[in-house]
Amino acid sequence: MYDFKSGTLTSGGQTLSLDDASGELCFVSHAHSDHTEAFSKKREVFASQETFTLVGKEPVARKLPGITLHHAGHMLGARQLFARLDGGTFAYTGDFSLHDSYTARAAEILKCDTLMIDSTYCLPQMRFPKRYDVLAKMEKFVKANSNSLVVFGAYSTGKAQELVSFLNRECGIAPVVGARAAKMCAAYEKCGVRLDYIEAGSEEAARAQVSILPPPEVNFSAGARIAAQTGKSVKTAVATGWAAASRFPVDEAFPLSDHADFADTMRYIYGSGASTIICANANPGAAAHYLRSIGINAVEKGEANPGVQTKLDGIRA
Ligand SMILES: [Zn+2]
Repeated sequence: MYDFKSGTLTSGGQTLSLDDASGELCFVSHAHSDHTEAFSKKREVFASQETFTLVGKEPVARKLPGITLHHAGHMLGARQLFARLDGGTFAYTGDFSLHDSYTARAAEILKCDTLMIDSTYCLPQMRFPKRYDVLAKMEKFVKANSNSLVVFGAYSTGKAQELVSFLNRECGIAPVVGARAAKMCAAYEKCGVRLDYIEAGSEEAARAQVSILPPPEVNFSAGARIAAQTGKSVKTAVATGWAAASRFPVDEAFPLSDHADFADTMRYIYGSGASTIICANANPGAAAHYLRSIGINAVEKGEANPGVQTKLDGIRA
C-alpha cells in the first residue's frame, strides 16, 4: 500500500521511501543531487545499475516483490517505479521526459490507479518548443560562430553529457568540460555511453572552440573576461527548460529541457488512467492546486488522501 502521510510504499513486508531518505530502504530515481540523499545517509538503496555508478558506488542488485523499474528519459540511469499493491497499482515517475535524448531512453506512460508524478513544469505557462527545433537552432548557433569561442552553461550531471553528445554527433566537436562534468563524463563512459570531450586546463583545451561550464560561470561578464584573456570573440549560451520562462544574461538561451513540459505532464496524467495524482519534487503545491482546479483528484506528496478528505467533507455537510 501507499501511505499518503509518510509518502512511503509498503510491498511484500518492505517499506520503501521514494527519492527521500526517510526510510531504511530508499528508491533513488536518478543521480541528480536533489534525489540522492539516501546514498549520503547510507540507507539501503534501490536504483538502476547506472545510478549507482554515476554516484560513485558499487551497484547493488536488489529485487523487490511486485515492483518493477522502467526507463524515465531525463538522464542516463533515470527510472520510474511501478508497484502492484494490495489496494491497486501505483507508479512514481521521478524526473521524467517522454522523448529519447542522446543519452537516455524515453519514459513510457505506465497505466496505474495512483500516480506520483514529477510536477516541475506542471503549470500551463511551461511549454517547450519541439526538441528537434531547439537542437537545430543550437547546431546553427555553434556553426555560425566557428570563429568565436562558444561557452555553454549546463549542469555537470546529465545536461553536460547531453551537450557533449550533441556537439560530438551534430557538430563534429569535442568540447572542453570542467572537472566535475569530466568526472561525470567518465562515469557515463563506464556505463557504455561514448563521449568525446577535453578536460579543462589541458594543452588541447586552449585550441578548442566550444566549452561547457557550470551555469553560474556563464554570463556576459564572464564572456567579456574570457574575451580579454584570449583576445578572441566569445559567445555565451545556456541550455535549460527555464529559458522558456526566464531571461538569462547570455547571448543565446536555448529551452532544451530534460523534463516533461506542461503538455507532456498532462499527457502522462491522462494516459496513465490514474484516479489519484500525487505531485512530487518541484512545485508540488502549485501543481496540485492547478490540477484540482481542472477537476483532477490531486494532492502534493505528504498530504492526506483526497478520497478520504472528500468522505469527511460529505459527513460534515
Ligand atoms: Zn533530475
